[in-house]
Amino acid sequence: MRRVSVFGATGSVGESTLDLIARRDDCRVVALTGGRNVARLADLARAHRAELAVTAHDDCLDDLRAALAGSGIQAAAGAQALVEAAARPADWVMSAIVGAAGLAPGFAALAQGGVLALANKESLVCAGPLLRAQAARHGATILPVDSEHSAVFQALVGEDIAAVEKVTLTASGGGLRDWPLDRLAQATPADAGQHPNWAMGQRITIDSASMFNKAMEVIEAHEFFGIAPEQVDVLIHPQSLVHALVSFSDGAVMAHLGAPDMRHAIGYALNWPTRAPLPVARLDLAQAGRLDFRLPDPARYPALGLAWDVMRTGGRAGAVFNAAKEAALDAFIARRIGFLDMARLVAETLETLARETDMTREPASLAEVLETDLEARRRAAALAGRLPRNGAA
Ligand code: NAD
Ligand code: MG
Repeated sequence: MRRVSVFGATGSVGESTLDLIARRDDCRVVALTGGRNVARLADLARAHRAELAVTAHDDCLDDLRAALAGSGIQAAAGAQALVEAAARPADWVMSAIVGAAGLAPGFAALAQGGVLALANKESLVCAGPLLRAQAARHGATILPVDSEHSAVFQALVGEDIAAVEKVTLTASGGGLRDWPLDRLAQATPADAGQHPNWAMGQRITIDSASMFNKAMEVIEAHEFFGIAPEQVDVLIHPQSLVHALVSFSDGAVMAHLGAPDMRHAIGYALNWPTRAPLPVARLDLAQAGRLDFRLPDPARYPALGLAWDVMRTGGRAGAVFNAAKEAALDAFIARRIGFLDMARLVAETLETLARETDMTREPASLAEVLETDLEARRRAAALAGRLPRNGAA
């Protein structure tokens, strides 16, 4: 029996992961975690006969205990309990908490030397070198779950990374792709929270509309595959059927195609290094008819270009970028700043901290990354208060 744990079980990726696990008979669920939705967490824990359910919030513990009464499933709460849950023996751990909160549990899970299926791209953006060192130290394997990175990973099977010229990540363009440019500043969280092709959590859906998500993924590709910033690029591909392309030194290009369903990438990580049938729609290219590609317009997606600044700076820039982005997204969701202000706020936070501190210094520990994260959030929140209200709704 394979022991599996799912962090962020009540989220979009978490639920898809459990859907696949429920179809197998070789998995035993150790720990499931969630946030405030303790009723759903308890339902999932019961359905999958988990040993332990953890809510991230201390004030939800009583409700979680009540919801699990009589089940024999243990309940726990808080950030430390999440890290302890990650230290429970498991062979395969899904990291699908959203945000930098996923970093510490993923780091702890790696110490077991098993497989960490990494949906939480924030981990690699904030602390790529530390995460890879932790995996190497414990003989653990990190498998990408982001669909683009799973696609690249699959295109690289049997290949030498030295023969890679370029990795191209595709982007749908998000929910505001076809809006007139001059209306973008007025977009609300509800407008930006619609996705043309993928069903995902609210935060990543808004990040898709702003392309902060793609900026994160560019950094994620640089960290995961160890390729130079100039070797990563992005194409808008409205159909979301080609997930990524890898160009090799002999001119060959390997593309990965499939229906937009996260269970493909999750299932690949679950079955790796082999393949097994998955309950995903089969691609019908005759029906799709055409595949379109174009370059992203920097005026529409000012967040995207920041990824290259972050990669070239290195050190703590990724942690600052992610934290400022999370703070900007919070401010946008709370309607304190406008849609286009998010990129300005993140750029200003990066500039301010680069002036005042040595951003290029690599963080030596997870604690340092988390300190940087807190500082960047504070600075971004303060700067958000001072932004001229340019189009905020
Ligand atoms: P979601 O919002 O649907 O779910 C997030 C999960 O994290 C929930 O279980 C929630 O309870 C939990 N959570 C939220 N805040 C927390 C905190 N502070 N501490 C602990 N747990 C917390 O998110 P999602 O769309 O499933 O995305 C999860 C991760 O996977 C993100 O890093 C995202 O970028 C990445 N990802 C998602 C998709 C997708 O299709 N949804 C695709 C690629 C990558
Ligand atoms: Mg993705």
